[in-house]
Amino acid sequence: MTFSIHGLAVARGIAIGRAVLVASSRVDVAHYFVKPEQVGAEIQRLRVARDAVVDELQRLQIDMPKDAPHELAALLDVHLMLLQDEELTSGVVHWIKTRLYNAEWALTSQLDIIVRQFEEMEDPYLRERKADMEQVGERVLHCLKGTGPLVTQAKRPQRPQQELQLGDTDVPLVLVAHDLSPADMLQFKQSVFTGFVTDVGGKTSHTAIVARSLDIPAVVGARTASQLVKQDDWVIIDGDAGVVIVDPSPIILADYGFKQRQGDLERERLARLRHTPSVTLDGQKIELLANIEMPEDTAAALTAGAVGVGLFRSEFLFMGRQGHLPDEEEQYQAYRRAVDGMNGLPVTIRTVDVGADKPLDESRHEASHLNPALGLRAIRWCLADPAMFLTQLRAILRAAAHGQVHLLIPMLAHGSEIRQTLALIAQARHELDRRGVAHGPVRLGAMIEIPAAALSLRLFLKYFDFLSIGTNDLIQYTLAIDRADESVAHLYDPLHPAVLRLIADTIAECQRQGKGVSVCGEMAGDVAMTRLLLGLGLRSFSMHPSQILAVKHQVLRSDTRKLAPWAAQVLDSEDPAASLNP
Ligand code: PEP
Ligand code: MG
Repeated sequence: MTFSIHGLAVARGIAIGRAVLVASSRVDVAHYFVKPEQVGAEIQRLRVARDAVVDELQRLQIDMPKDAPHELAALLDVHLMLLQDEELTSGVVHWIKTRLYNAEWALTSQLDIIVRQFEEMEDPYLRERKADMEQVGERVLHCLKGTGPLVTQAKRPQRPQQELQLGDTDVPLVLVAHDLSPADMLQFKQSVFTGFVTDVGGKTSHTAIVARSLDIPAVVGARTASQLVKQDDWVIIDGDAGVVIVDPSPIILADYGFKQRQGDLERERLARLRHTPSVTLDGQKIELLANIEMPEDTAAALTAGAVGVGLFRSEFLFMGRQGHLPDEEEQYQAYRRAVDGMNGLPVTIRTVDVGADKPLDESRHEASHLNPALGLRAIRWCLADPAMFLTQLRAILRAAAHGQVHLLIPMLAHGSEIRQTLALIAQARHELDRRGVAHGPVRLGAMIEIPAAALSLRLFLKYFDFLSIGTNDLIQYTLAIDRADESVAHLYDPLHPAVLRLIADTIAECQRQGKGVSVCGEMAGDVAMTRLLLGLGLRSFSMHPSQILAVKHQVLRSDTRKLAPWAAQVLDSEDPAASLNP
């Protein structure tokens, strides 16, 4: 039966495919396809792992001390019984044979089905066996680890679009999960999935931001999607409307297939603008820059025609590393790859911004979980750990010897933080000099993302060469709306008069003082905001590479002489959203 689930639209386009449900705890399980001729070996790998766990449990049974509690023996019996249950093995074998899933993926898919069956049982004793099933599955997964091929995220080979048929092993797959951390999302950059749905998350949560950078349709904040969608269901993800349609009828499928093709055509049309200079009708040059998460993203930035990187979110180098932070050499190599990747165009490296919804896997500052968005995040975290910060600063300054680097500091609010930061940058240079290591000049910038910063512009412009407005956080902190919380997403309003006033004043003050200013929050890549930002005087936008051409399209049709008086009116209006269309 067809039904739809509503969430928040975060990444454009339509994806149609079978659902793959992934529990958050199993996101790091390898997902790849085996070749048809490897099916036998993959099934064998599964059997070996299962038998190893059976042996282990049987040994435990034999070695169990005589006075061990009776429950322990009963528990082992249950685990052995579940492990040897045909439904588990035959189900997993089915996924391997019919879908060519690797053993780990097949196992987690089948576990998900069985666990749900347990959840639906009336009998509380049987319902509780769900936890046993999960433990047994974990043991087998653990055994499988290290026995598979090295490639963990092999890409599906490109094939022309096909008719969707049940039983087909080559249909698109969409990922459905309760939650994914930004680091998990990053893992999926090279994955087989053509769309994402998560239960939680706001429009500018970092999970959504990475989904957008993958340039595949995504819906977040879809509340109960991971409970309502079943493994292998057919699903349509409408990333424009924020809707997920489950088990669509043939008519609905045809309709969305048409929309999908329209979207492809639109992209082809936009691609022709790649080499067109970004200039308004009245001759204003507009700088379109890219936001990246990894050095390798510079390729997409150049393909989209970006004239530089306006925001390299360096924290992605620090995530998912089990507490081992990258050392100076590793960071230097990464920043250098980004600088080299841009072929002489400027690269703005933002110092690490962890905390809030971008946790490191191991919290080193436990108090932050109390209210992470207001806690020890970004520059606060860096100033609390100067050794870590100095390591990053030295690596960035070294990379600056190889090209144009701008150094951007997030989350500043206080004069004392600014002065400490500048002192540490000077110290990092001094340390490099002492070691005789080459380093280069940087332009120094501050993010304006806390209202206090937007209201202290003279202080900021005294110390910095340029400002970059982080609208994602500026909105969050101005309106007291957690950007990652879907329950207050309707109040997260980029067009709130207070937000627009802070943005407008920042742009105007920078212009007055002849300093550079750009917007690097999600507003910069939203085509509905382009004309308003142009009208407010913005001439530099930084966004995901996938958004650049659509924004350029808007720029080419705009006349800033007409937009300026209109934007002034919008700014003064009680309801800017209503007067957005000139
Ligand atoms: C912002 O806050 O707008 C920004 C660009 O930084 P981030 O989204 O990484 O917090
Ligand atoms: Mg921010």
